[in-house]
Amino acid sequence: MKIIREINEIRRICRDKKSLGFVPTMGALHKGHLSLVETLQKDCYPIVMSIFVNPKQFGKNEDFAKYPRDLEIDIKLAEEAKVDMLFIPSEEDLYPDDYRTYIDVEELSDKLCGKSRKGHFKGVTTIVLKLFNLIKPKVAAFGWKDAQQGIILKQMVKDLNLDVEIRMCDILRDSDGLALSSRNNYLSNEERKNALSISQALQLSSKMFASGVRDFSVIKKKLVEHFNSFSNTNIEYIEAFRIENLQETDFLEKGVIIAIAAKVGKTRLIDNWRIGE
Ligand code: AMP
Repeated sequence: MKIIREINEIRRICRDKKSLGFVPTMGALHKGHLSLVETLQKDCYPIVMSIFVNPKQFGKNEDFAKYPRDLEIDIKLAEEAKVDMLFIPSEEDLYPDDYRTYIDVEELSDKLCGKSRKGHFKGVTTIVLKLFNLIKPKVAAFGWKDAQQGIILKQMVKDLNLDVEIRMCDILRDSDGLALSSRNNYLSNEERKNALSISQALQLSSKMFASGVRDFSVIKKKLVEHFNSFSNTNIEYIEAFRIENLQETDFLEKGVIIAIAAKVGKTRLIDNWRIGE
């Protein structure tokens, strides 16, 4: 695996690669990240992974400074997953002092996570477009774990006529159901147990849907009761929305996502269930 830190070098090496697959990450790699690599390996070569904790997608009171970083382990995991090139740019190179340009996917970026994380998606779309410009992937893989992010990126690709396929990959979970996330590193043992409230809430939704409930307000009421039985766990939102445009809906059917954001202690976690998947 080649490790590349310089912008000019990644640009040079990726030039004219016709079937390049790209996996952007913020590191603290887990099996969810590696599943994206595996998905691309079926039809892409080379596979480029980036590790960059992007300051522009963190709000002032968020966890940028303490976000888990362990490059040594990440390099080992990427190598084991047979990533061909690992791009680890510096903040100074990507955002020099005179940096001025941002990408904003309007409306979609203000909903759901965008309500509490103002400017978050602007930071995401900006870094992803910058990385696309440097790496020029044919396909880029993202996880359904961050469903809103994927939907916003697809809109960006469409609006800006970018020549890249956004491939969305299923959510990887621990054996007890907790969605894998770098932020799970923050959880104490007690919090880890409370964090299960989120995946359990989605399982409950799925059971209610299977038993014929189609009215989201009925499910939401049940989920709020469910969360009340967990200590130190605060719902930020429980929403149902259509995949294609993030439009909120009360009618549950295929093509709708139920998404939850909750704080367990100080750790903000998200998860979702795509109906029919
Ligand atoms: P991050 O490093 O958190 O920015 O995530 C990098 C990519 O990995 C994003 O496309 C995420 O959606 C994806 N990802 C994160 N967690 C999971 C998971 N549990 N299963 C699948 N993909 C994931």
